[in-house]
Amino acid sequence: MPKHPETWLTVTPSGLYCAPGGFYVDPLRAVEKAVISHAHADHARPGHDHVLATPATLAIMRTRMGADRAGRVQQALDYHQSLKINDVTLTLYPAGHVLGSAQILLEHAGARIVISGDYKRQSDPTCAGFEPEACDVFVTEATFGLPVFRHPAAADEIDRLLASVALFPERTHVVGCYALGKCQRLIAVLRARGYDAPVFLHGAHVAVCETYRALGIDLGALRPATVAAKAELQGAIVLAPPSAIADRWARRLADPVVCMASGWMRIRQRAKAGGIELPLIISDHADWDDLLTTIREVAAPEIWVTHGAEEALIHAAGQLRIRARALALIGYGDEETA
Ligand SMILES: [Zn+2]
Ligand SMILES: [Zn+2]
Repeated sequence: MPKHPETWLTVTPSGLYCAPGGFYVDPLRAVEKAVISHAHADHARPGHDHVLATPATLAIMRTRMGADRAGRVQQALDYHQSLKINDVTLTLYPAGHVLGSAQILLEHAGARIVISGDYKRQSDPTCAGFEPEACDVFVTEATFGLPVFRHPAAADEIDRLLASVALFPERTHVVGCYALGKCQRLIAVLRARGYDAPVFLHGAHVAVCETYRALGIDLGALRPATVAAKAELQGAIVLAPPSAIADRWARRLADPVVCMASGWMRIRQRAKAGGIELPLIISDHADWDDLLTTIREVAAPEIWVTHGAEEALIHAAGQLRIRARALALIGYGDEETA
């Protein structure tokens, strides 16, 4: 009889703990041994003693928190390489969320559990695509776990941005986006749609873009927006953190068109309340259809649901005869909630 994963992977105050392996997955506070799915701040916290993750995730963690806080010992594990930790075999698979993002497969006592971390199924030129892995239990995020959330193709949303730039050549388009993943994906899709002018960056976005480049992701010409003259920014595209687009920083720009790239832009009132003139529905999380597709593909008889609208997905899983429960993990918000 395989040992059910709920007997050896449990929720503790520090996060999800794998007892036979002696490690936490994306722990919420500093621990001795951490396995990290990706470098977003709600999953990768500073101060662990030992950190295991993909090489790209480790590099981005060093960039964001400084080498001294990104894990005293950093152990890199490539996708598809298995590692035995005590009685547990651990393998990382691409999650398609941001560069380096991984799903974590744990095999122990005859059972397979996949912890998805955050994931998406849409194509993204800046990271490896999600790979569905058959398992007994699938731990899924549900950030956009409501039928109302359906993300259009990112290329179509970028074409809307480019149409607006063509229509208002004297104005600066400032696009709110979070610094890790979304920012680089926007640039890469802009390039794929033929935009080859320099893209201007708020200071908060520079370091991670440089790390992406160092890891081999081509982003074309980038310029700091902070030192650029107002005239130079006329007709330009500026990427900035969501917190910066509504404040004084953005008002310095030439008659800005305030844009925001987020899955939440599906909600009209949300865009309106944030003063967003051009909402772009671009998300690094699976939408409702892709959550359901993924659950079918991994064919797990049981799913555990984390951060987001758990109830709707649990209900939908029940209709597919999949056992589902909410995993009570507090502390995962998303960088995208801004
Ligand atoms: Zn994330
Ligand atoms: Zn998350």
